[in-house]
Amino acid sequence: MRLQGKVALITGTGSGIGRATALRFAAEGAQIVAVDIADSNEGTVAEVQRAGGEAIAVHADVSDDADVAAAFGRAEDVYGGLDVAFNNAGIMLDDDTDAIATGEETIDRTFGVNIKGVLYGCRHAVEAMRRHGGGSIINTASFVASVGAATPQIAYTASKGAVLALTRELAVVHARENIRVNALSPGPLQTEMLMSFLDTPEKKQRRLVHVPMGRFGEADEMASAALFLASDDSSYMTGANLQVDGGLTAAYVTPE
Ligand code: NAD
Repeated sequence: MRLQGKVALITGTGSGIGRATALRFAAEGAQIVAVDIADSNEGTVAEVQRAGGEAIAVHADVSDDADVAAAFGRAEDVYGGLDVAFNNAGIMLDDDTDAIATGEETIDRTFGVNIKGVLYGCRHAVEAMRRHGGGSIINTASFVASVGAATPQIAYTASKGAVLALTRELAVVHARENIRVNALSPGPLQTEMLMSFLDTPEKKQRRLVHVPMGRFGEADEMASAALFLASDDSSYMTGANLQVDGGLTAAYVTPE
């Protein structure tokens, strides 16, 4: 029960990493504010409750500051404060390719969710945590923030680099307020987001050859890392980028 008595707001809980983390945090004793734009979020909350956990669903678009403010307001109204914010919702659009072909609307939408969404989440988390004596903020970046790919998604990659930069700066600014801010950088995962994009065995293999462990990661493995960053187990960590990627960002030549 590493999050016993803690209140955790998580975005992107309708599927993938967010869903897995909501279930894990609740099992560790946290009260969950589950935030998503998709109806599947209600299903995640029902799952948490069936498992004996405590959660509410909040419908919000993280790229809209008023929506984000309202979501954090619910955490304080319903559960009396905020201890953990996991700014995890993100998008990767099909027509996001290289710098020449990627259109302005795709760039704006990607930056809106992946950068502004995280920044708004941090803003309201800091305000709520100040009122509550501190807390832990976790922002989902990606391995593509650290290594380039010849299969580009330039807006997505740029947005994840921004997540790392804003995480570092916020960590330094708020370090003496008992507010920690860290990034979690997943490797390629077996989630809806990536599998719908890598929809042939050839496309999957093109990626797997670069992963020393030779497999995609699981959402549950990201939930374990997020739990570490959320809990006091990581009490002396702030401004870090926790790379949970099967060795991908450490690799040059991978095993046969
Ligand atoms: P996913 O698509 O399974 O889940 C993302 C969730 O975010 C969905 O439920 C979606 O409805 C929600 N969402 C999207 N836009 C939103 C908005 N504007 N407001 C509120 N909610 C919104 O994806 P996932 O794989 O669980 O990804 C979670 C995070 O991990 C993302 O930030 C993603 O970029 C990052 N990531 C994923 C991978 C991967 O391989 N899947 C790798 C590295 C990083």
